[in-house]
Amino acid sequence: GSSDAIKEPKLPLISLGSGSKAQPCLAFCLQIFINNEWHDAVSKKTFPSINPATGEVICQVAEGDKVNVVGMRWVCFPWERVQRGSVLVTSPRLFRKPCCLLQALETLDNGKPYAISYLVDLDMVVKCLRYFAGWSDKFHGKTIPLDGDFFCYTRHEPVGVCGQIIPWNFPLLMQAWKLGPALATGNVVVMKVAEQTPLSALYVANLIKEAGFPPGVVNIIPGYGPTAGAAISSHMDIDKVAFTGSTEVGHLIQKAAAESNLKRVTLELGGKSPNIIMSDADMDWAVDQAHFALFFNQGQCCCAGSRTYVQEDIYNEFVERSVEKAKARVVGNPFDFKTEQGPQVDEEQFKKILGYISTGQREGAKLLCGGNAAADRGYFIQPTVFGDVQDNMTIAREEIFGPVMQILKFKTIEEVIERANDSKYGLAAAVFTKDLDKANFVSQSLRAGTVWINCYDVFGAQAPFGGYKASGNGRELGEYGLEAYVEVKNVTIKIPQKNS
Ligand code: ADP
Repeated sequence: GSSDAIKEPKLPLISLGSGSKAQPCLAFCLQIFINNEWHDAVSKKTFPSINPATGEVICQVAEGDKVNVVGMRWVCFPWERVQRGSVLVTSPRLFRKPCCLLQALETLDNGKPYAISYLVDLDMVVKCLRYFAGWSDKFHGKTIPLDGDFFCYTRHEPVGVCGQIIPWNFPLLMQAWKLGPALATGNVVVMKVAEQTPLSALYVANLIKEAGFPPGVVNIIPGYGPTAGAAISSHMDIDKVAFTGSTEVGHLIQKAAAESNLKRVTLELGGKSPNIIMSDADMDWAVDQAHFALFFNQGQCCCAGSRTYVQEDIYNEFVERSVEKAKARVVGNPFDFKTEQGPQVDEEQFKKILGYISTGQREGAKLLCGGNAAADRGYFIQPTVFGDVQDNMTIAREEIFGPVMQILKFKTIEEVIERANDSKYGLAAAVFTKDLDKANFVSQSLRAGTVWINCYDVFGAQAPFGGYKASGNGRELGEYGLEAYVEVKNVTIKIPQKNS
């Protein structure tokens, strides 16, 4: 059963070998996956993948830096017509088969607690693929009567060769979010996985082959952003790019698309999401959820509730209890089942977060707990809480992407709405209140792609996710998530008025 499965983590033995040398379930290929085959980089270069809990190199991975899509387009047609439904339907089961291995890889490479990799990430991956498999024979066109002797029908045709560039914070899940809708609608995919976390995605490439996807439908390139990523976004023969990552890189992707072939672009970018706690909220639940909203996944969530606005009459109690909760958070070895918070993903993020903490102190926010590295090796940071944060402080405006909570005080509902919306971002928001009218008023006034009421970070494969403003464009997941992966073709037909 699933609970037995998580008791005994089995660490994978990883080696950089060729397809024929790989031993199933123990070793797997860490190369470039094209046409269901494994390749070294043309340059023969490799790069290290690092364990963030220790700072040590786990293994070397082939470093792709260019993208060759010759021939991929021609895979599209038979794939679209015949196979996509049946193959996608069987694939979710496969992800459960290498029990422990996938989530162990995720934890080893990313640092997230093992129990979370299994119970949250992998579970959502399977549900996402299952959900999109169901769409593969249902997202179709319409028949539309026209004036006069005509009618048309629409066909939802695949966009073609889709470039997908994914980040390191949820490596397996971001891969599933991207593959699901692209494959359900009959596209072929060239995916660049994040350089910090290539391992689980490459293991999935092994599963892709086993699931029976035809060669060329899913291609996976480990490598760096400015080389492999830029090769995708500026490619003249890639029809679409879907990107999840920083707003800064989002600008580069959109620019590269504009300057090359005007490929379609969808972006899921950063955020600085307001989480509004009204004085009539259930205090225990609100404290618990505000903590979760910020600290989940080491604070490395684009939708993290990173501006906690608390109404003035409950502010002191809320702050005190949030600090208690942060102090009690268990930081440590991500393979230990007691651990709630593992290391940040890499040294760069670790330093950046510590930099934001000093900026917060310098600009006058009150450091209430944490503030330092939490271990003498690896990239661990103490759960940190700032009180008395003002809207114009750097820590209230920029995305920190770490375990650092900002608590701000407000008086009235109108005031908090205005302050919450005063951000270049608009990814998510939340409001905690027992008053339905207040909840509806706030949720309709906030400019954000998701508003949670009395909850946070509730996701479902059925529900659209994406940003307003500089948090991106387009939606992922749900029926809405399919729209970016089809071209709508209008076929117009003349109806003869008499039988000649
Ligand atoms: P973060 O700052 O959270 O690491 P990034 O936006 O830098 O996020 O990275 C997200 C993904 O975008 C990664 O796969 C990364 O390699 C890729 N990337 C980074 N720079 C570029 C670029 N110039 N062009 C295309 N992709 C890039």
